[in-house]
Amino acid sequence: MAIKPRLPGYALGLILCLLALPAQAGLRVFACEPEWAALARALVPEADITTATSYLQDPHYIEARPSLIAAMSRADIALCTGASLEGGWLPTLLQRAANPVIQPGREGLFLAAEQVELHSAHDHVDRSMGDVHPEGNPHVHLAPDRVPVIMAALVQRLQALQPASAAAIQTRYVRWRVRWNNLRSQWQAAASQLEGRSVVVQHASFAYLLRWLGIAMPLDLEPKPGLPPSAGHLNTLLGSPELERVSAILIASHQGNRGAQWLSEQSGKPVLTLPGTVTGEPGTDTLGDLISRIVSALLETAGDQSGG
Ligand SMILES: [Zn+2]
Repeated sequence: MAIKPRLPGYALGLILCLLALPAQAGLRVFACEPEWAALARALVPEADITTATSYLQDPHYIEARPSLIAAMSRADIALCTGASLEGGWLPTLLQRAANPVIQPGREGLFLAAEQVELHSAHDHVDRSMGDVHPEGNPHVHLAPDRVPVIMAALVQRLQALQPASAAAIQTRYVRWRVRWNNLRSQWQAAASQLEGRSVVVQHASFAYLLRWLGIAMPLDLEPKPGLPPSAGHLNTLLGSPELERVSAILIASHQGNRGAQWLSEQSGKPVLTLPGTVTGEPGTDTLGDLISRIVSALLETAGDQSGG
């Protein structure tokens, strides 16, 4: 009679358990915005990443849906912007998910805006100013000099969470950093052609990058931060002497384009609609590629202007 090897039940359970574990030991990441998901993917590609918003959504205003609450309650770490960007939904999400490690001040809640100095901080904010972020402009993910600081802090946080993967995370970080530095010199070269230009914007979505490139933002389609362009405000912009100098009207994919279109028709200035954050599409699926795409689009507009 043949002897059948038999495993005790607990050993079989253990083996099944190990088989179920992916390489990165099943790290579960919750990203409030796609930009932080992209950074995490570069460091822990095997992680299970849930992203709460897409480039077609306004990250200021989403709903704390049950699926997001469930994802956050299961996550090991949440990566968000902070500085009140998600003020309308993140507190609810944190409270309802009741994940003990993902709470303000705990290691499981990584806030990008807290890792860097922000532009345009306001000492005093009241409702008459519109939807102003008092801590400063939280849209830091397109800032060529700030993203590496955020990335370095994220590396440390992930290594602390996954000590066994610390070396692999470090290797991927170095690779990411080399590529970023290469791209950054290309952006720098473009900046020499773009410096001194100006564009009409809608909200402070691209402000860090434009400022870094030396592009002025004299006019904003929003009458006040967070408010849609009104007819009265658009007429004021049309009458502004600054409008003559701008090379384009720059808006993000998630923003309504009616105001931009109207001003474009009246003034002849082109509308540039670009993703405000990374997309799932090749060419804009990493922050570095997205910045390159925005810079190319701005260069094209600048070229059209000087040519015509
Ligand atoms: Zn904002």
